[in-house]
Amino acid sequence: MTQMQTVEQTLTINHFINGAETSGSGTRTQDVFNPATGAITGELRLANREDLENAVAAAKAASRVWNDISLAKRTAVLFAFRELVAAHTEELAVLVTAEHGKVLADAKGEINRGLEVVEFACGIPQQLKGDYSDQVSTGIDVFSFRQPLGVVAGITPFNFPVMVPLWMAPMAIATGNAFILKPSERDPSASLLLARLWKEAGLPDGVFQVLHGDKETVDGLLTHPDIDGISFVGSTPVARYVHETATAHGKRVQALGGAKNHAIVLPDADLDNAADHLSAAAFGSAGERCMAISVAVAVGAAADLLVDKVTERATAIKVANGMEPDAEMGPIITQASRERIVQIVTEAEKAGAALVVDGRALMVEGHEEGFWVGPTVLDHVKAEMSAYTEEIFGPVLAVVRVDTLEDGIRLINANPYGNGTAIFTSSGAAARLFQRSVTVGMIGINVPLPVPVAYHSFGGWKASFFGDKHIYGPEGVSFYTRGKVVTSRWPEPKQPSGASYNFPSNS
Ligand code: NAD
Repeated sequence: MTQMQTVEQTLTINHFINGAETSGSGTRTQDVFNPATGAITGELRLANREDLENAVAAAKAASRVWNDISLAKRTAVLFAFRELVAAHTEELAVLVTAEHGKVLADAKGEINRGLEVVEFACGIPQQLKGDYSDQVSTGIDVFSFRQPLGVVAGITPFNFPVMVPLWMAPMAIATGNAFILKPSERDPSASLLLARLWKEAGLPDGVFQVLHGDKETVDGLLTHPDIDGISFVGSTPVARYVHETATAHGKRVQALGGAKNHAIVLPDADLDNAADHLSAAAFGSAGERCMAISVAVAVGAAADLLVDKVTERATAIKVANGMEPDAEMGPIITQASRERIVQIVTEAEKAGAALVVDGRALMVEGHEEGFWVGPTVLDHVKAEMSAYTEEIFGPVLAVVRVDTLEDGIRLINANPYGNGTAIFTSSGAAARLFQRSVTVGMIGINVPLPVPVAYHSFGGWKASFFGDKHIYGPEGVSFYTRGKVVTSRWPEPKQPSGASYNFPSNS
């Protein structure tokens, strides 16, 4: 046991079922770490079948009540929740940094982006207005409106323990559903604070619940007959599995997967600006963002200069415990993840890539047990190397050199992932060709992390997304609701017209 482990407290992390924290009846637990110190800080309770049944039963009952509550009252809860999350930003961010490792300012950034979705959800009456067609036939009107699915579950990844749950829950709840969150078991504490804030905002018990667990709990949710929809964000193999399993059990599913995001840098780009953005997008949050740029595609003469400029920035990054005010990059989520990253970098070097900046041996003084990898730059990476084919999910930027913009676009389109991509150029024509040709869902033009604002929707293509409807924004509204169309005649005809056995035609 390290010195840090003796001074840090180990907390029990409970579920939040039917309006209250509970340890549940499951006996399995999992350790939660502070990745900056390597210390165990929490003991997470993992749900068993009984806990799952309790949560689903409470959600089912609550969904009926919540769907009957007026839009005015529903939005009042959302507005109150918005204020509470804003007021507790610091507290949420500290929980995120303590279990995820990202620096405190970055943790606050994810909370702010999550808040944007809550704000969009506050305007839900506008989104649910429906359509009305007057007098489609004599005395007959047709109108359509949307209703909630019922009970939906959200299964979320470790890398955004507040933002990703807020991509889902406010939208699901605003549209009248009950929502069960199954957070990542690596950084679960922030989800409990969110649950307390929902309750304080006036949300009825059972409408937002937190059920901790691993594959066993996820499988229970994917197959439960009383769950109507599944929102998933995580790695591609699990996203594919979640989509296949839950759709086979009759559920509506949106499953967002992993990524390998490329940024093309053309020789006409402002290379200092491109290097600033690339460095921030590759090494921010230790590269553990689904929109991180992990491949720089340097076109022609841009390559040598770009590598020099990125190297300058990568070597200047302050890697430290995310709680330190001047920290720019924190640790990796787990020791196993750290070892995997180091192995991929080592393999790339052996396969002929140039290791321009080597972060494998980085150690942070006073944090010798932490899970550290420093910013790493690999040049001359080839498409067959594991550093290119694998989603590394660490602070590693692979530079691939190509001759033309068209070669770069071909490379991106041949990649199985299609989450995000960017281009750095001063040519509008090149940017336009790029935006029209790439088979990727979210595109940045001189913007490295093109995360859509809350009133658009977020989602990738190809192996980065399984389902039809992207997350939050207008597609989120559509995902969490079903359409109904009513054909109505008022008043009823005074004289019975007799039964007609022909298909009804409008007149
Ligand atoms: P993960 O796939 O390991 O875990 C995600 C969730 O699935 C967790 O709640 C976990 O408990 C559960 N899970 C894990 N293995 C499972 C299994 N075999 N069966 C059922 N459930 C299982 O992902 P992670 O490591 O927590 O997060 C990082 C990944 O998420 C990266 O691949 C990243 O690109 C991706 N991600 C994607 C987006 C996006 O918008 N596309 C956003 C954030 C993260």
